[in-house]
Order: sequence, then C-alpha cells, then structure tokens
Amino acid sequence: MKKMLLILIAVLFLSGCQAKETVQVETIESSSVSGKDPADLKYSEPDAPVQQEEKEPEAPSGNLVPSGNIPVLMYHYIRSVDKDEDFLGYNLSTDPELFKQEMEWLKNNGYSAITPSMAIKGDVPEKSVILTFDDGYSDFYDAAFPILKSNGFRASEAIIIDKIDHSGFMMGTQLKEISDYGIELMSHSMTHPNLKESTDERLRAEIKDSRDFLEYHYDIKVPFFVYPSGDYNEKIQGYLKENGYSGAFTTEPGIADFKGNLFDLKRIRIDNRNSLEDFKNKILNSKN
Ligand SMILES: [Zn+2]
Repeated sequence: MKKMLLILIAVLFLSGCQAKETVQVETIESSSVSGKDPADLKYSEPDAPVQQEEKEPEAPSGNLVPSGNIPVLMYHYIRSVDKDEDFLGYNLSTDPELFKQEMEWLKNNGYSAITPSMAIKGDVPEKSVILTFDDGYSDFYDAAFPILKSNGFRASEAIIIDKIDHSGFMMGTQLKEISDYGIELMSHSMTHPNLKESTDERLRAEIKDSRDFLEYHYDIKVPFFVYPSGDYNEKIQGYLKENGYSGAFTTEPGIADFKGNLFDLKRIRIDNRNSLEDFKNKILNSKN
C-alpha cells in the first residue's frame, strides 16, 4: 500500500513538472485587412553582416533635457535622384552624400541620435536629435544604415507591414538586423491607408495588427506609430491609446514636445531641398 502511494506521488509529481514546462504559444489574430498572418512570413537568420568600420550605438549620457523639446528629423528616401527626371521623387529624397555630411556634422558637433523610446524614458543627452525614416524603403538599409553605423547613431524606421519583402522595401531579414543594432521599429500601419476614411474595423486592424506583427516577428516593443500621410484626428488618437501605444508622429512641422501630447509629435522635414547649411540652421534653431 505504501509502495502504491509512493508511485502515485511520483506520477503526480512528474505530470506536474510536465505541465509547467508546457509553453503557451501565443497566437495573434490575423489581419482582417491584408489577410496576412504574422506567422506566414518565416524569416531565416540574416547573413553575417559584412565587416566594416562601425561603432556601437552611443549610450546616453543621462543629462536630461528639462524642456522635453527634441528635434525629430523626418527622412523618406536616401538615394540619388535626377531632379529633372523625377521632380517629386527628388523632393522626397536625400542624396546619400548630403545625408553623410549631415550625419557627420551632427557627430562633429556633439549631437546624440536617440530613439523615441529613449526620449520618453528621459534618456536624453543635452544635444539630442531623433532621426526618423518613413515607409521602410530598401535604400534605408543600403545607403542610410551604413552611415548611421559609422557614426554610432541610432534611428527609428516607420514600417508598412504589407510592404515588407516587396521590391523597393526592406526584407524581413534586414528589419531584424537593423532592429538588433538599435534602430527602433515603429508601426506605419498595415497598408498605408487614409485612416480618417477607414471603417472602425479597419482602423483597429491597421493600428493593432501592424504593431502585433512587428512585436511578434522581431521580439521587440513597438510603442510608437507614424500616421500614414500625416492624417489623424481624435478618434484615431483614441484607438492608438486604447491599443497601448505611447505616442505617434505627425508630418506637422515643428519641434516635438515629449512633455506635451505624445500623440501629435511634430517633425522637421529633411530632403534634397535643404542644403547642408539649411540643415545646420534647422538644427541650431531648434534648441532643446
Ligand atoms: Zn508614409
């Protein structure tokens, strides 16, 4: 009888251990907009990066900015475009050589490039900028990322989920690599729609599913959203708050106030239309 009892205890103990080791696999609702399930895209590990001179992203110095004002620069393409052939494309782009000069000027003048998450945590050195790049274009990886790395700069990239792995946009493996380096991924919706004209159901999918996708695939937190085409209203801001976002960037020009409403953070547009001198003035005139 005693032996039976011992066996029973042993069996109960072992099954208890097994139950503890059973890992609950979290599933995420698939997007009702795109039909793309987060698990559909299976990314292999990125190839080992080509060895090049690079620095670790800087650790913040811990000098907090009392005002909460931080210049947030807004870039789109980093590529060479012929002004006469593609005027619109030229205005949305920054030539890689100009971009390099801008980053070197920031570096040589003691600026730190921090992420939006560092800003809300208060990890803000006295001379800080936030570099944002919209839409997840492939030239970020090809042209901007090497320059950011060589200056030890962090940045943040706004990703349109349905464009991942599409021609002209970054691959999933590249997003993993930039995220691992310290580029903060932000949601830029599933499909880049006009959110003001979206149905409630679609709004929820564009805002929630896009964030869930990035968090699921890259094992990161995604606290920030970037409004597609800069369109937003109070209802959209409400959806963002309801779904746990910490803040969102607009395309409205000005200095972001991280101690004000975090859901209408302003940005400073940078592209080929500003010379290096204009760039310097935009930064110097936005003292934080
Ligand atoms: Zn966009």
